[in-house]
Amino acid sequence: MEFLFSMPTRIFFGAECIRKNGSAMKAFGKRAMIVTGKHSARACGALDDVQAVLAENGIESVLFDKVENNPSVETVDEAAQLARAEKTEFIIGIGGGSPIDAAKAIAVLAANEDRKALDLFRNDFQKVQPIVAVPTTAGTGSEATPYSVLLRKDMETKVSFGTPQTFPTMAFLDTKYTMSLSENITINTAIDAFTHSLEGYLAKRSTVMSDALALSGIEAFGKCLPHLISFTLDQEDRDNLMYASLIGGMVIAHTGVTIAHGMGYCYTYFHDIPHGKANGLLVREYLKYNAPACEQKIQKVLELLHCNTIDELGAYLELLIGKAPELTEEDVEKYTELTMIQKGSIANTPNPLDKDKIKALWNKMKENR
Ligand code: NAP
Ligand code: ZN
Repeated sequence: MEFLFSMPTRIFFGAECIRKNGSAMKAFGKRAMIVTGKHSARACGALDDVQAVLAENGIESVLFDKVENNPSVETVDEAAQLARAEKTEFIIGIGGGSPIDAAKAIAVLAANEDRKALDLFRNDFQKVQPIVAVPTTAGTGSEATPYSVLLRKDMETKVSFGTPQTFPTMAFLDTKYTMSLSENITINTAIDAFTHSLEGYLAKRSTVMSDALALSGIEAFGKCLPHLISFTLDQEDRDNLMYASLIGGMVIAHTGVTIAHGMGYCYTYFHDIPHGKANGLLVREYLKYNAPACEQKIQKVLELLHCNTIDELGAYLELLIGKAPELTEEDVEKYTELTMIQKGSIANTPNPLDKDKIKALWNKMKENR
């Protein structure tokens, strides 16, 4: 048995956890930047809670509320300029994965004045301002990972960076913020959380520790699956989804993701399909491809989801997110080339992959819709 396990984020989970524990942010300084998307942080109440706690504790803050879904390097550079001008001491990301990932990048750039966002991918920085994460979706688990996924138009895909320094220092998880999520966003993000635990469980880099977490995350998702399908989620389901998201983050922080994520970026970039849905569309073919390499683990996952076969799980997912988009021969060629960039995901996939096998997977996605 051999593993490294490190979870440096201090996590507060539960109703009103910001109001109850937010004074802990005093340790980070007197000037913060709050990073959000355009509307939802305010609409769900998280921004008000954070601003109230900052004010009570004598912390000044500046708001950057322009993070788009799938944040770009350009947006992160713009926010970092503001953070430097405002002399921030720590960065608070409120939102889904997009603002939280942007907050991580801004926290590095604010601490390293000579760097631009494109330099981040070298992972060669030492200084990072403390990062506080307040998730308002239950999906990415970004509050418990060191990763920041940014859109690079120059590469026509999304690329991530992250070092042990870019784990959020602190995270506040209160499911009341997820009550305002639409049905689609709830489902797409829940599937993202599921695929993190699923891919982490099957990953070559999985360990006995990450497996224990992954199974707990998959079980929590499985408990919600019937209510996700009927969209009748109660408080317990919302708690389970937030928990599954957090656990999924902890899992991939240790195992990394595999080829479902590696391929999913093409659906997001070229078809504007949200991240979690993009991964979910790939699950059926992903599991079939990997079954020869990890049959017992896949059987365990199916048990936890109360499914008998991969096709049965695929049918559930199709009920939730529909069918994959149509692809042309040219799409298959292009997506195969772009998937080849995702070297970490390829190497981490349990059944070995090469270019021909990735192309065959894309062809399956073209045919089986
Ligand atoms: P998101 O892109 O952050 O947000 C999607 C949409 O949900 C936005 O329109 C947002 O509105 C809205 N929204 C957020 N919270 C809401 C709420 N409580 N009520 C109503 N609407 C709300 O979605 P996400 O799926 O959470 O994050 C996806 C991103 O995370 C992708 O870029 C993905 O690559 C990345 N990711 C990162 C990791 C990691 O480890 N770091 C892992 C997986 C995925 P506003 O724009 O108004 O806020
Ligand atoms: Zn993901």
